[in-house]
Amino acid sequence: MDVLLREGRVAEVALPNKIRASADEKFDARGLIVAPGFIDLHVHLRQPGQSYKETIASGTAAAAAGGFTSICCMPNTHPIVDSPEWVTWIQQAERGAVVNVFPVAAATKASKGAVLTDFRGLQRAGAIAVTDDGKPILGNDIMRETLRLASELNLPVIQHAEDTRMTEHCSMNEGPTSFRLGLRGMKTVAEASVVERDVQLAQQFTGARLHVAHLSTAEALKAVRRGKRSKARITCEVTPHHFSLIDADVAEYDTNLKMNPPLRSASDREAILVALADGTVDAIATDHAPHAPHEKIIEFERALFGVTGLETGLGVAITRLHREQRIPLARIVELFTAGPARVVDIKGRGSLVRGNYADVTIFDPKKRWTFEAAKSRSKSRNTPFDGWSLTGKVVATIVGGRVVYRAD
Ligand SMILES: [Zn+2]
Repeated sequence: MDVLLREGRVAEVALPNKIRASADEKFDARGLIVAPGFIDLHVHLRQPGQSYKETIASGTAAAAAGGFTSICCMPNTHPIVDSPEWVTWIQQAERGAVVNVFPVAAATKASKGAVLTDFRGLQRAGAIAVTDDGKPILGNDIMRETLRLASELNLPVIQHAEDTRMTEHCSMNEGPTSFRLGLRGMKTVAEASVVERDVQLAQQFTGARLHVAHLSTAEALKAVRRGKRSKARITCEVTPHHFSLIDADVAEYDTNLKMNPPLRSASDREAILVALADGTVDAIATDHAPHAPHEKIIEFERALFGVTGLETGLGVAITRLHREQRIPLARIVELFTAGPARVVDIKGRGSLVRGNYADVTIFDPKKRWTFEAAKSRSKSRNTPFDGWSLTGKVVATIVGGRVVYRAD
């Protein structure tokens, strides 16, 4: 098909050579895939407060290079984004964002899990969901109140599912590898028990929307499947590192493989691959979590959790899901576009129908390339994918009709 973009919108999608209007600029995408702009539901931009790791400008530049035209940023910055003023601040033009940034606000004041924030005010300022990400919303009563109030506003609640009472001082998944390395391990039940509880709570409120962030275990997937069969609106995302790596890969105490939730067992990864193919998983989200060298190049147990991922998401997905697992390319595109657009109601995005925003990702599904962390647009280098040979590369990223990234 040919796609005509005009004044920031999709003006026409038609069979080749059927569009009559003339264009100022033409992009010959022969042999490439022209997809709706990719949406990342889970990104840590580190601003306000930790610009030494990432800024809104550098993080969105990395997003553009990875094909993402819209990203949702998590509120666990310094300070925590728990007021309408900070939600507004993130969206100001001075921040220098080159892709669309949709703020996710804290569900409780300072994400302490005690007092709810002003959901209505946050939503009015532009927050598209609430979460205490980095931490769970742990208490039963506070989570019930979060779901009840959010359901009245049609606001999704994003849960970082981790029963932190079970994971204190843990730095990786519990299993033979944690035993051999002498590291305290997180049990999968710490994730699954929270997802099970949340799915039950969500069913108590008509219109409640629960989204499970960075789901990593087979048990949690079972709870999500049960939830999807009920009347509640349950969605989930998985990350490229959780579908491409396992805990045994941590073998040499490599802190670039330390993240939360941790890399799990081979059978958890197997369950995630099945769920990606069968439609249980709604979106691939990178959980891009930049950190500085002094926070990572230290002992495994003292290193901070998190890895970068904006520039490698598509390549890892095509290499591991399409080429190795035979998941169709159309399904992979859905996981980066229409899927996430449904989770958070990013209106006018996620598909290339006429009238939608002119957000487009053009990629070469066959291009082989090697990812070099040293050349990353992110300010941080804490990636597990440095030196990986990948298939599938972004060629151009267009936001609102403007080319914001073009491969050289
Ligand atoms: Zn999280």
